[in-house]
Amino acid sequence: MQFQEDSHICAFVSQRTVFADGVRPATLVVSDEKIQEILYDTSEDVVRYLSQKYPGIPFNDCGSLVLMPGIIDSHVHVNEPGRTEWEGFHTATRAAAAGGVTTIADMPLNSIPPTTTLDNLKTKAREAYAKSFVDVAFWGGVIPGNQHELRSLINAGVVGFKCFLCPSGIDEFPQVSVDDVRKTLLELWTTKTVLAFHAECEELEKTNPLTDPGLYNTFLHTRPDLMELKAVKLICDWCIKYNVRCHIVHLSSAKCLALINDAKTRGAPLTVETCYHYLILAAEEIPEGSTEFKCCPPIRGKNNREQLWHGIKNGTLDMVVSDHSPCVPELKTRGNFLTAWGGISSLQFGLPLIWTAARTRNISFSDISKLLSKQPARLCGLEDRKGDLFVGMDADFIIWDPEESIKVEVDDIYYKNKLTPYQGKILFGKTIATVLRGRFVFKEGKVCDKPVGKLLLHASILQTIET
Ligand SMILES: [Zn+2]
Repeated sequence: MQFQEDSHICAFVSQRTVFADGVRPATLVVSDEKIQEILYDTSEDVVRYLSQKYPGIPFNDCGSLVLMPGIIDSHVHVNEPGRTEWEGFHTATRAAAAGGVTTIADMPLNSIPPTTTLDNLKTKAREAYAKSFVDVAFWGGVIPGNQHELRSLINAGVVGFKCFLCPSGIDEFPQVSVDDVRKTLLELWTTKTVLAFHAECEELEKTNPLTDPGLYNTFLHTRPDLMELKAVKLICDWCIKYNVRCHIVHLSSAKCLALINDAKTRGAPLTVETCYHYLILAAEEIPEGSTEFKCCPPIRGKNNREQLWHGIKNGTLDMVVSDHSPCVPELKTRGNFLTAWGGISSLQFGLPLIWTAARTRNISFSDISKLLSKQPARLCGLEDRKGDLFVGMDADFIIWDPEESIKVEVDDIYYKNKLTPYQGKILFGKTIATVLRGRFVFKEGKVCDKPVGKLLLHASILQTIET
C-alpha cells in the first residue's frame, strides 16, 4: 500500500468505507483539514471527475482496507506534569497515532496538579502544547470544595468533569460526598456539560479477604459487584432527579445493566462506558502474581464478560474506551494484588482487542465505529467535528486491515511503560495508517516526525498558552 505525501487537498478511496448506517465503497475529498466532498463511487469516472475539478489531486487508494472515522478514546490518563515517568503527552499520543486513535480526552487525575482549577488546566495544557501527535481534549475534576471553579473550566473548553465516589488512590484527588455531588449537579444544572463518575462505593462491612495476596481472587473479593451496584443506583437516581448529563466510567459489573437500562428507559440523560479489558479478559484466566491485570473496578468472571457483550449489543453500554492508566513497573510488579497499582495500559491496541472478540460475535464495522468513535465524540461534545464521516467533519481516519493479525510485542509499544496483560497475544486487525485532519500521523509502520495534534480548548485559553 503506497500512500501519497501530505497535500492541502487529496482524496481517500476505500471499497470498505464505514459510515454510521453501513459500509460502502466511497471516495472522500479532503481539503483544509476537513472532509469536503463524499462520493459513493470508486470507479475511474470519479478519478476523471475529481482530476478535472481539482487538477493534480493525489489519490490515496486504500483498496479493500477498511477506512473508518478515527478512534476517540475519551478515557486516558496522561499523568504529565507531576507523574511524567508514568506517562507523558509525547509517548501517549504517539501510541494513540499508532493505534488509529486521533483524539484522546485526558483524565483530570494522576497528574500533579490535577485538573481541578483553571490554573491547573493551563499548567497541563502548557505541557501538552507542541508535544502531541493527535488531538487532545481535557476532562476537569470535581473534588470537595472546588465547585466555584467549574464554570471557568467549562468556559475554557473541558469536555466534562470526573469525580470519585470512593478513594481514587491519589491524595490530591479526594473522593466526593453525596453533598458535594448535590452541590455540583446544582452548579451544572444550566450547562450542557457532563458529570462522569467512578462508580464504586466502599462497603462498610468488608468481606474477609482470602489470605493469599498473590491470587487474583483475593483482590476480586475486596471489590465485589455490590460496590458498583450501590454507586450506579445513586448515579441513576441523581441523573433522573437533577436531569444533568451523567456518565458512568469503566463499568465492570454486568449486575448493573438492569439498573442502567431502567434509568435510560425513564429518560435519564445517562451514558455508560466499559473498557477493552472487561470485554476481553476474565478473572478465571488471570495467572497467580500477574498484577499487570489489576484495575479498579476489577476484571470479573467469564459469565460477567458475556453479559457485558450483551449490554454492548442491546445498547445499554454506549461506548468502549481504554482507561489507559499506566504507572512505573516498580508500582505494578510486586506480585501482590492488594498492594500493586491498579491500571491497565492499552491505548495503542483498542481496535485489534475489540475486533478480535467482536468478529466472532456478529458485530459490524459500523457498530465498532459507533462504540469507538461516534459515541465518545458525543460524550465529549465533539460530535459536530469528529467521530463520523460527513462533509465538514475533521478528516480523521483509521485505515486498517481486519483480516491481518498482529502479535503484541514490547518492542512495538509506543507508550512509556510497556507492561501489559496482552503481551504475546495474537490479535486480528492491523492499523495501516492514521490520518489526523487530512495528514498522515502514522503510516508504513512509523509515527510521523512532527507533533501536529491540537489541544481542543477554547481559543481564549489557547492564546494564553501559546504566548
Ligand atoms: Zn481512569
